[in-house]
Amino acid sequence: MTTQTFDRMIKRLRGSYEKKMPDATILSFWYDEAGASVPDEAADWIYAWVKNQHSDRWPNHFQDVLIRAHQEWFSAHPEKRAFEPKRICNEPNCEDGLFWVQRHEPQFGYWAGYAIPCICGRKRMGDIPRWYWADLARAGYRAKPEEEFFRYSVREHGTINDAVKKTADGMGW
Ligand SMILES: [Zn+2]
Repeated sequence: MTTQTFDRMIKRLRGSYEKKMPDATILSFWYDEAGASVPDEAADWIYAWVKNQHSDRWPNHFQDVLIRAHQEWFSAHPEKRAFEPKRICNEPNCEDGLFWVQRHEPQFGYWAGYAIPCICGRKRMGDIPRWYWADLARAGYRAKPEEEFFRYSVREHGTINDAVKKTADGMGW
């Protein structure tokens, strides 16, 4: 399912146990483990299954519960076995799993460019957390219009990963 459908399903589930949404890292971990591999139409079924199995409280080892729910869904819908998991992303400015962004860095005295992994998880950069676009925008990043800008930044700061790590340090990830 899409990250949007998955997040909506989790939000509804969490809400029904009076729990807040987990942070983006946990959410993307759950998605990788047990969200990407089933179609959108499974969301309501999985919601109901989890509620039925764990009516009293939020289950421990939730990712295992999710995986189980997905197996049960496929058992109940064997004709869907051929479903090809496809990572679809509706995040604005996501290019194959990366946000190419820039931010003004007072310590450098100019706008620096970065590549930051998107929540959809189509591109991984080690253990650097994946982001929603809205959170990046709130943190002062903006979509990078020119290719030149990024090359400049990478030349100044080393590799793409170095640049992202600098950002990570600066933001206290
Ligand atoms: Zn994405």
